[in-house]
Amino acid sequence: MPVNRPGQIRTAVDKWYAAHARVLPWRIGPAERAAGQKPDPYLVWLSEIMLQQTTVPHAAPYFERFRARWPTVHDLAAAGWDEVSEAWAGLGYYSRARNLHACAKQVAARDRFPQDRDGLLALPGVGPYTAAAIAAIAFDQPVAPVDGNIERVVSRLFAIGSDGSEGGWRVDKKAIAAQAQALFDGAGSSVHPGDLAQGLMDLGASICTPRKPACAACPLHRLCAAYEAGEAERFPVKPAKADRPARYGSAFVLLRGPNVMLLRRPQEGLLGGMLMPPTGAWLDAPLDDPLEGAPGRHHWEPVGEVRHVFTHFSLRLAVWRTQAGPAMRTPAGGVWLAQSAALAALPTVGRKAVRLALP
Ligand code: SF4
Repeated sequence: MPVNRPGQIRTAVDKWYAAHARVLPWRIGPAERAAGQKPDPYLVWLSEIMLQQTTVPHAAPYFERFRARWPTVHDLAAAGWDEVSEAWAGLGYYSRARNLHACAKQVAARDRFPQDRDGLLALPGVGPYTAAAIAAIAFDQPVAPVDGNIERVVSRLFAIGSDGSEGGWRVDKKAIAAQAQALFDGAGSSVHPGDLAQGLMDLGASICTPRKPACAACPLHRLCAAYEAGEAERFPVKPAKADRPARYGSAFVLLRGPNVMLLRRPQEGLLGGMLMPPTGAWLDAPLDDPLEGAPGRHHWEPVGEVRHVFTHFSLRLAVWRTQAGPAMRTPAGGVWLAQSAALAALPTVGRKAVRLALP
């Protein structure tokens, strides 16, 4: 391997990024940066937290809504949890919304984001990847944020891949992270670490894709070991994924005229702190009694099933509905919301269930 290869890679990525950077709502692009604009750490942080769990097209409208409603970290810190959780509904992983809110409060109290990786790592909800991404993108620190895109590009550039076992992949990940960091270590003053990070991410998203990478259009193809060996798609060599286990449950949608009854879930646990229609337990096998856990004595009408995939399991939720009479007592903690407000406030799985139950 030529000794100046990392330098050549940095220069090629930088040049390509200057011409091909994706336009993203949270990004200060190369032209804006050249005109003297700097990234806003609050917006970088907000986007990175949202992107931990979803794709760019899904996150973008949420990001725009958060930015419009809470333009600064102080605004977000001052917001109530109910508002934040409802604005987050549909982004999943509600523990992250709670961490987001807690982090905003901490940062607002100290009046600014920490600028280095270790300081960022101490914030709620900020793990090693997110800390590195904020440090590199918002503060131009030479630290490598190794997301899935950078992991793939670097594993191919240096042909890092072993036997496809769990143990082999753990070793590969360390080697990929070390090579990625070596690219940033040598950046010096010639290339902005933030541009290098975003350039590698964009390259992975648009050229060095998981399947059929467009190597002929890649600015790195003369420097890429996997391409040279004619086996770009073989890298990274990951272990086969275990099947997600299935869980089964029921959701009970109480309707009263145009309103829907929702309950706020306990703060701890899955969908913690979010509004949901009442549900029974979620079990590993189909339920013996699908009406177990139904609130009140009503005539429950089955309306079908919704499926939802969480990180560690997939859920099959039988949906039941009933029309509540005026004399019906609202279950403890229940709130009646108009259908549109209920749909806006619900996380995706709850929205699927309520949509199915609406007449
Ligand atoms: S040459 Fe192909 S495999 Fe190598 S970095 Fe470029 S797109 Fe990826």
